[in-house]
Amino acid sequence: MSNYPDLINIPFNNVFIRELFVTGEPHYTPNRLDPGYWVIIQDNSLILQPGETTPALPYGELPDWFSAPAAPLTIGLWHGLPLRIFSIKSNGMIQPPFISEALNAAVQTIDDATLGIGGLARQILHWEQQSRFCSLCGGKTGPFSREWGRTCTKCNTKQFPRISPCAIVLVRRDNEVLLVRNAAWPAGRYSLAAGFLGLGESLEDCAAREVKEETGIDITNITYVGSQSWPFPSQLMAGFVADYAGGDLVVDHHELEDARWFPISALPALPPRRSIARRIIDTFCT
Ligand SMILES: [Zn+2]
Repeated sequence: MSNYPDLINIPFNNVFIRELFVTGEPHYTPNRLDPGYWVIIQDNSLILQPGETTPALPYGELPDWFSAPAAPLTIGLWHGLPLRIFSIKSNGMIQPPFISEALNAAVQTIDDATLGIGGLARQILHWEQQSRFCSLCGGKTGPFSREWGRTCTKCNTKQFPRISPCAIVLVRRDNEVLLVRNAAWPAGRYSLAAGFLGLGESLEDCAAREVKEETGIDITNITYVGSQSWPFPSQLMAGFVADYAGGDLVVDHHELEDARWFPISALPALPPRRSIARRIIDTFCT
């Protein structure tokens, strides 16, 4: 751990589940009677049951109303017991004592390990759903590796989980930082400029381009500070800090509702603490 930047110690990175979770062989099937834990995903939410201090993963037999699929995916061991995952429909009703908790909720009420395994299950289910057929010949695929690779049963083409890299960057100018606001975010919330990597781009190029496109600002001293797995549905956020190099603020209203320089002493509402955006702001705006 000490070899990594401190900024990777963020939920959704495997650091919080490394001691608790052992990856299984692909589609490994425990004895159906073996009790174990469940990760139940509904869109971007986790279905949980009351725990001692915080809501916990359901354990043991599930009530009938869950209508779990005949063969939920077993992804490994959690606390030494089989961990089975499945998703339920968006409109599926949840009955007490079970609760639904958004993985990306504005206020975090579940612990970091539960968030971590929930995020991993969310990504695996997304990939399993996306990779059932070969993108070359349309043939059916089957599992072949512990990394969730799939092989085409017709042409043998192999594919691995698709993770989309994004750059996210804090831009500093004297005692101010450049923050942006997307209309879809909760009222008043601002965050860092960010965007998806383009073909042929380095992550540094991507950071500079996104800031320029969204705000008209040129940046320099682009420095990598850490990264975060982001399971909505499957991104890798590469975090940077940079300095203002020039240009006037011109907000791209196709992408953003607003962008502003904020004094470090008067920051607006920010993203939740589990996000790399917030970790970068907390670390570098002191
Ligand atoms: Zn194929």
